[in-house]
Amino acid sequence: MTLIRPDLDTLPAYVPGRAIPGAIKLASNEVSLPPTPRVLAAIAEAAAGGNRYPDLAVTGLTARLAQYLDVDAERIAIGCGSVTLCQQLVQATCFEPSDEVVYAWRSFESYPIVTQIGGATIRTVPLDDDFRHDIDAMIAAVTPQTRLVIVCSPNNPTGTVVTREEMERLLVSVGPDVLVALDEAYYEYVTDPEAVDGMALIDAHPNLVVLRTFSKAYRLAALRVGYAVSAPEVTTALRKVCSPFSVSSVAQAGAIAALDDAAELLAWCKDVVTERSRVRDALLEAGYTVPVSQSNFVWLALGDRTGPFTAHCLDHHKVVVRPFASDGVRVTVSAPDENDAFLAAARSFPG
Ligand code: PMP
Repeated sequence: MTLIRPDLDTLPAYVPGRAIPGAIKLASNEVSLPPTPRVLAAIAEAAAGGNRYPDLAVTGLTARLAQYLDVDAERIAIGCGSVTLCQQLVQATCFEPSDEVVYAWRSFESYPIVTQIGGATIRTVPLDDDFRHDIDAMIAAVTPQTRLVIVCSPNNPTGTVVTREEMERLLVSVGPDVLVALDEAYYEYVTDPEAVDGMALIDAHPNLVVLRTFSKAYRLAALRVGYAVSAPEVTTALRKVCSPFSVSSVAQAGAIAALDDAAELLAWCKDVVTERSRVRDALLEAGYTVPVSQSNFVWLALGDRTGPFTAHCLDHHKVVVRPFASDGVRVTVSAPDENDAFLAAARSFPG
């Protein structure tokens, strides 16, 4: 016997983007601007009541989101960031060690972690040669043991999207007893009309749950707040497995105020989309392989040059990028001056 369950020795660590004083951080897909004045005021007001527990049911934010998204409040579960909701999904669907979670790889590095913590079995399906989800292969990977399929669109870290047609095909093929989570953490940056929009599919597909977050476009990464939209049955389950009070009053108030300022926040996303094209074009011209991104980052498939490229950006240009060992580098698209600093680093990389 051991004090701690032995499989935790093999649990992959979540490696966060590094924040280095004096360097430009393009490693975590945040917005480089602070929250808006309205959000900061709401946060300060909520912090003044910090001696009291938050509203357990997250009533105000749920109602505001229901109005914003035009869905029933009973279909919304709020969580301590969408990564925690992902963990709750595993807890709500998987029970036996043989229960399987299927997702593409490479994709968001939390998926293997939450699956393993949940005691379920991981089934990964390689991305195709264009760094996209291979939906047919994912459908083929589903077995009678599959409880949850996670689709990330746009995919972190490659930026590629799943089309609406592909998503509908997957939802129908897996059958009504397999839950499909569509992680749309970067939804606000999508411009491709073919790309899936989860909210447009939830009415027709009770086995779909859409995950979104306030961490990216809504500039609240530090507050830890995300949400899931699904059939009420799934929402109820997500609420059951949630740790009590995991969404702070500061987070609840900040998120409501961010929705009030959505127009301003989304305008910034449009500027990022313009920059995204400029950055990708410049990288292609410099000879890099960069898939079309529908997110606020680009993926450089660098293989063995990943480590040296990352070191070059930091050591010679004070730019922090996000390396994925021997695979590639993910770089946040930010304001023009920060993007220019990165492009200078990429152009001068000798390798
Ligand atoms: N999903 C994806 C695809 C992400 O990239 C991230 C953040 N890196 C998350 C979920 C988690 O977001 P949150 O801050 O809401 O937990």
